[in-house]
Amino acid sequence: MHEAMMGTSNPMYLESDTSGLLSKLRNLAMNLWWTWHPEVVAIFRDLDPDVWRDVNHNPILLLQQLTEQQLIERAREGAIEARINEAAHRLGTYLKGDDAWARPRASKLRVWPVAYFSFEFGLHESLPTYAGGLGVLAGDHLKSASDLGVPIVGIGLLYTEGYFHQRLDADGWQNEEYAPIDKSRLPIEPVYGLDGKRLMVDVPIVGRSPKIQVWKAMVGRSELYLLDSNVPENCKEDRQLTGRLYEADPTTRIRQEIVLGIGGIRTLAAMHKMPAIVHCNEGHSAFALLEWIRLHMVWEGVGFEKSRDHVGRRAIFTTHTPIPAGHDYFSPDLFREHLGYLQRDLGLSARDLFGLGRINPDDPSEPFCMTVLTLKIAHRSNGVSALHGRVSRNMWRPLWGMRSEQEVPIGHVTNGVHVPSWIAPAMYQLLERHLGVGWTDHMEALLTRERLARISDEELWEAHQISKNRLIGFTRRRLEAQAQYRGEPADRIEEARQRLDPNALTIGFARRFASYKRATLLFHDPDRLARIVGNDERPVQILFAGKSHPANEIGKQYIQKLVAMAADPRFKGRIVFVENYDMGVGRHLVQGVDIWLNNPLKPLEASGTSGQKVVLNGGLNLSVLDGWWAEAYDGSNGFAIGYGGYHPDQEEQSRRDARHLYEALENEVIPTFYERDDRGIPHRWLEKVRWSIQTLGWRFSADRMVLDYFTELYLPAAGAASCDTRSFRALGEK
Ligand SMILES: *Cc1c(COP(=O)(O)O)cnc(C)c1O
Repeated sequence: MHEAMMGTSNPMYLESDTSGLLSKLRNLAMNLWWTWHPEVVAIFRDLDPDVWRDVNHNPILLLQQLTEQQLIERAREGAIEARINEAAHRLGTYLKGDDAWARPRASKLRVWPVAYFSFEFGLHESLPTYAGGLGVLAGDHLKSASDLGVPIVGIGLLYTEGYFHQRLDADGWQNEEYAPIDKSRLPIEPVYGLDGKRLMVDVPIVGRSPKIQVWKAMVGRSELYLLDSNVPENCKEDRQLTGRLYEADPTTRIRQEIVLGIGGIRTLAAMHKMPAIVHCNEGHSAFALLEWIRLHMVWEGVGFEKSRDHVGRRAIFTTHTPIPAGHDYFSPDLFREHLGYLQRDLGLSARDLFGLGRINPDDPSEPFCMTVLTLKIAHRSNGVSALHGRVSRNMWRPLWGMRSEQEVPIGHVTNGVHVPSWIAPAMYQLLERHLGVGWTDHMEALLTRERLARISDEELWEAHQISKNRLIGFTRRRLEAQAQYRGEPADRIEEARQRLDPNALTIGFARRFASYKRATLLFHDPDRLARIVGNDERPVQILFAGKSHPANEIGKQYIQKLVAMAADPRFKGRIVFVENYDMGVGRHLVQGVDIWLNNPLKPLEASGTSGQKVVLNGGLNLSVLDGWWAEAYDGSNGFAIGYGGYHPDQEEQSRRDARHLYEALENEVIPTFYERDDRGIPHRWLEKVRWSIQTLGWRFSADRMVLDYFTELYLPAAGAASCDTRSFRALGEK
């Protein structure tokens, strides 16, 4: 595939060889690079806008649905051909990576890259290998690493049924639908071993050795290997191992973690791609460290302690939540059944092996915790915001003999988002006009007051309005489809088509329905909310979306409650629920809303990233001072709910937060949004938007995040000298 993509395409050369044109299209579809290049997205869309929508933005499916003849005709008629040639040329140049900043600074990582292990990778809605924020973060990490030239390979699982599709029934109750994926419609290719046969690795599952096959997806320059147990050689039970993401059953869970961790290391070894560093994104992949220790003992003929130290220096662990349920615990029996064999292989007593996952190794009843295992082995661990770093240090103090918080060796790297993946085309083009082509590569240098001042309020407002109109069109189509599916009468369906007002203040709230995120906080005082939302002079509309984990009944009750409350006539249809939150729904929302609402119960939101996605789209955050917002908010770059304190009584805390939320809306958000000049432009609002872009755009981007990992963790862990990032900044200043 590589060779073809690096071919000699020249944008000036009008393609006459049609098979060349088709193979270029296929190459573009097969590298997820297209997902963050709006001009390539536009090519697929323009080939057939209706089919593009029908196939849920899956370019491989699009190419399968249209005949070669149709594709060629469309490309010719619509003058898309030159754009295809241009895009293929750009991809080829990108893949060569001559100008990638980190590459010459990557030291030995150029030969032995970082292996980034994650249970989920969210790259695009058409690749169902993610459930939520953790996956999106992993996907954004691979994309930014690719852009910067940080050598990285991702290791994850290919789920036969992915995560579920959400549909609400007439009572607002969430139903889950699982559809088997068709691998021929995904941008993945089988991986072959050195013997030319399909690469298979074994994993140890209670005395059996099921085969795992390996697929490769390309994320720009980053490779992502996806492991899949669904091969005919395996028994039915093993074939289903990689069936669904986040199964609640602990037996399935421990086996999936064996496939990811142990299977992942074995895959890298089989490909002769042993990494310099393993980065565990969450504890799910911690068995990778045990397998690496085991292999190092075999290869180097050293004992456990030496090998543990070798691996520990090269391991990085990122923890993502202070919620206990977010950490995997396995009963001693389940652990013994599955990993007891390591006692022999690692030469450890039962106490010492089990003790790797226990705070107190001498307590045989303590379950085996994957977070503890990773914290004990990896020499470098971090939380995902400054506040979460502190919370994590306190949480895991017992592991370090109750040392004081400051002495617990857990740092932080605050999360960020991959801007080119989340920014709306209109905003992207506006910034390109004022900051120059390729501006997303140099945000640190370019998002300055002087440069942003070149953009007039009128232009900024117009660009945001374009995205907002797209969001409203999208939402109306979704609401119409939802109403049709539920068999609602014709007048209700017609109503769905008319919902929402492009001039109203639009608030978005979309996230998993985990209780601590408190999706229903806004409804704390329905009368007060009705006065806010129902005001016809200054209307407010609110878009909700989000899934509840299938096993989380309380989350489903929250959704049901929310949908019922939203139907209260006093809200005049201005509160809507968009079903089946995924990256596509998320993209429309963050691009089009004026306000992104975030009201978790402090301090339980480790970072949160959805609010970071609105920044470059010209939206503003309204958030509790938790997670990333605790370090981001400066008094002017958005809005705060409350003052950052928290109360031990959760009920009391929620009462206070609700009151502060209403006050912020009534006294700050709504008046500022509706303060207009005679041409309808809200200058004071746009001043905040510009300031938000300036102060947050770079700091909460995935480029900044990956750069931090690269200089502060990856290079030191690889035993290399760290590098100075001033040259990176200077690039953009040229
Ligand atoms: C960004 C994103 C998230 C993360 O949301 P937070 O609750 O802010 O962490 C979850 N799901 C999807 C689909 C996203 O795009």
